[in-house]
Amino acid sequence: MSVRVRFAPSPTGYFHIGSARTALYNWLYAKNHRGKFILRIEDTDEVRSTVHSIRSIINGLKYLGIKWDEGPFIIKNERGDEQILSRGDYGPYFQTLRKNFYSKFADELLKKDLAYLCFCTQEELEEMRKKQMKEKKPIGYDGRCRNLSVKEREKLRAEGRQPVVRFKVPQGKKITFVDLVRGEISFNSDDIKDFVILRATGSPTYNFACVVDDHLMEITDVIRGEDHISNTPKQILIYEAFSWEIPNFAHLPMILDVDGSRLSKRKGARSLLEYEDEGFLKEAMVNYLALLGWGTQDSQNFFEIPELIEKFSLSRVNTSPAIFDENKLLWLNIQHLKKLSAEEIFKRSYKILKEAGLDVYPEGFLKKAIELEKEKIKKLRDIPVLIGFLFADEIDYKEVLEFEKPEILLKLKEILKNISDFKAQEIERKVREFCKEQNLRTKEVFHPLRWALSGRKWGPSLFAMCEFLGKEVCIKRIEKFVEVIGGKK
Ligand code: GLU
Repeated sequence: MSVRVRFAPSPTGYFHIGSARTALYNWLYAKNHRGKFILRIEDTDEVRSTVHSIRSIINGLKYLGIKWDEGPFIIKNERGDEQILSRGDYGPYFQTLRKNFYSKFADELLKKDLAYLCFCTQEELEEMRKKQMKEKKPIGYDGRCRNLSVKEREKLRAEGRQPVVRFKVPQGKKITFVDLVRGEISFNSDDIKDFVILRATGSPTYNFACVVDDHLMEITDVIRGEDHISNTPKQILIYEAFSWEIPNFAHLPMILDVDGSRLSKRKGARSLLEYEDEGFLKEAMVNYLALLGWGTQDSQNFFEIPELIEKFSLSRVNTSPAIFDENKLLWLNIQHLKKLSAEEIFKRSYKILKEAGLDVYPEGFLKKAIELEKEKIKKLRDIPVLIGFLFADEIDYKEVLEFEKPEILLKLKEILKNISDFKAQEIERKVREFCKEQNLRTKEVFHPLRWALSGRKWGPSLFAMCEFLGKEVCIKRIEKFVEVIGGKK
């Protein structure tokens, strides 16, 4: 049977690192098995689900380059407005559009006496819980509506009570499954209370909708976070009640912050799109997410995406928590940036360059500037700061004001003026010659020249920078710097 996996987010917030990792592992697994990857939106919590969140999921997956074979897609209609549609043979892919399936299957369980109507009110349930706590008994539904007679049910209905449908959990049963990450896991059904599968409003609960959909969508492997392990026995009971084939389960380790605490919004649990906005390459993010809980035997760190697809396996997913370390992400970003040409970096940073107002300069110029600073780029957002000074009309000299020997620069200016072939190599030759003649150490000349040209103590290769700026700008900047530090032109 060919592999079909799904990523099934609840669109109730922004798309964060943990969800992105789950999506990626599903996708890598599907690709590795030449199977299908499905996106299903679990929006049964109609109050908390938002279109904004669906968009952030879709855009987050797009950022990572994760394409889904079936699921919702954003398309533009003739008027140019965006619309969200579903594509695939197993749709719809929004749970709110699948309500008929859930009520039909809940009815089937009621008919088979594997589920029952429960008329308890919120207050009654609360009272039950309080009593259980007081008596130090396990918390959960006590089954009081399990065996109501038809008459009793009618009476409760006549009181205006709206029933929910509860699943009848079989008693004294051992539920065992082999997790593809953790091996065999067992539960005792006595620890599971009869749980709601359909609310009074007719909307399904997560465990029920999930099983109905995974079955109808012919999902072969359920790969999700370990916070769902406790849901798995309930889901297995539902599969068994219908005599449906049970998929494989794989539960991924949780992700902690470097200090061992849970990821918080302030730390790593930021929206994935914030990382895109900061200029983390998709290659680096995918590489990083893949390593959050998985690794090869030789602990390889740098991966291109095709290699990840080839090497990924659930059997090498760890059971211990993964640690989210933004420094490692940054390191990987630098490694992946090294593989890109200045041309490609230019393309990917165009939006950022535009935002910084640098798009007014010719493309060729911008690409050359990126080439000059390529080694120093850690993320795409750095680029305007790194190259901006090359284009600026005015240089800010506050970082380098302590320099007190304007005469060196004034002499050097004359040397530059007389260079006819204003190319890096020739400039370097002439400036070195000047140092020798004046009996100065190179750093006594190179440093102030850099400060004059850039206002900074660091930057691209000095002579390549001179060439990029051109003779006229170099001279103008030297004059300005000399003026600022109080020398004569
Ligand atoms: N909607 C659930 C979540 O976002 C899906 C869990 C699952 O994959 O079964 O956690």
